[in-house]
Amino acid sequence: MLRSTLLAAARSGGVKRMVEGNPLTRSVVDRFVPGTTPQDALAVIRELAGRGMSVTLDHLGEDTTDADQAADTVRAYRLMLSELDSAGLAGNAEVSVKLSAVGQQLPHDGNKIALDNARLICEAAADAGTTVTLDMEDHTTTDATLDVLSNLRVDFPWVGAVLQAYLHRTEQDCRDLAGAGSRVRLCKGAYSEPASVAFQAKHEVDRSYVRCLRTLMAGSGYPMVASHDPRMISIARQLATETGRAAEDYEFQMLYGIRPAEQRRLAAEGNRMRVYVAYGDEWYGYFMRRLAERPANLAFFARSLLSS
Ligand code: FAD
Repeated sequence: MLRSTLLAAARSGGVKRMVEGNPLTRSVVDRFVPGTTPQDALAVIRELAGRGMSVTLDHLGEDTTDADQAADTVRAYRLMLSELDSAGLAGNAEVSVKLSAVGQQLPHDGNKIALDNARLICEAAADAGTTVTLDMEDHTTTDATLDVLSNLRVDFPWVGAVLQAYLHRTEQDCRDLAGAGSRVRLCKGAYSEPASVAFQAKHEVDRSYVRCLRTLMAGSGYPMVASHDPRMISIARQLATETGRAAEDYEFQMLYGIRPAEQRRLAAEGNRMRVYVAYGDEWYGYFMRRLAERPANLAFFARSLLSS
C-alpha cells in the first residue's frame, strides 16, 4: 500500500515542492543523487574507479512530453560522453538511458523519435569508446523498448537492456536475449505493476529472478546482476561457478548510495562491480522509487522533513 502510494507520487510530482529548497531533505536526496553536473558525475567516477569499480551514468529525466526537452536530454548525454572521453574515463563508465526521457511518450511518432534520439547517443558512445544500456520502465513500454534495442543492435551490437524479474514475460525475454554479444542487466523491477502482468509477492519475484539469472548465466551473453539482495548475489556467484564463468564474464551492479560497503567488498574480492550513478536536476521520480523500495529510507526522509 505504502509502496504503491509512493510510486503514484513518483509519477504525479506530489511531494516535490516539499523537498525542493529544503537543505535537510536535500541531503537525503544527495545520498542517492550525488550531483547535477557532468563535473559532479566525473568526480564520482574518479572516486569509484579508485576503489576498482566502474559506473553507468543516468542523466536524470523521464516521462518527457516535449520534443525540445527530449533533444536537450540527448545533448546532455552527448556532452557527458565527450567529457568522459576527454577525461580519459570512458573505460570506467558507460551510460544508461530511459527511452521516456528521449521522446518515447511523445504523442506522435514517440517510438521513432526515441529510436532516433537513442541512436544519436549510441553514436556518441561509440566515438567515446564506451557502451549504452537501455533502462526499462513500466510494462506498457517493454515491447517498444525491446524493439528499439533490436534496431539499435544492428549498428551497435553492444547496446544492452534491462529486464525486470517481476514481469511474468521476463523468463522468455531472458531466453531470447541470452545469445552471444547480448548484455542484459537483470533487476527485480521498481514500478507499480498489476497482478495480470507481474508477480506481487517478494518470494515470487525472487524465484523469478533466480530462474532468469540461471538462463542468462547458462547462455553466451554478458549478464549484469543488478541487485542489492545478498541472496541473489550469492546465487549469482554459485551459478557463475557452475556455468564456468570467470570474474570478467559477468558483473554485479548496484545503485549509488545503496549498500556502498558491500559494493567495495565485492570489488576488493576481484568481482566486476558497476555502480549506477544518477545525476542532474530531474531527480524526483528516481528518488521516490528509492524511497518506495525500502520503508527505512522513508522514515529517514520523514525525520528530515519534520526536523526542518
Ligand atoms: P530487494 O529485495 O528490494 O532489496 C534487497 C536488499 O537491498 C534490502 O533488504 C536492502 O538491504 C537493500 N536495498 C534495496 N533497495 C534499497 C533502497 N532503495 N535503499 C536502501 N537499501 C535498499 N528497476 C527498473 O524497474 N528498471 C530499471 O531500469 C532499473 N535499473 C536498475 C539498475 C541497477 C544497476 C539496479 C541495481 C537497480 C535497477 N532497478 C531498476 C531497480 C530494481 O528493479 C529494484 O527496485 C532495486 O534494485 C531493489 O531490488 P533488489 O534487487 O536490490 O532487492
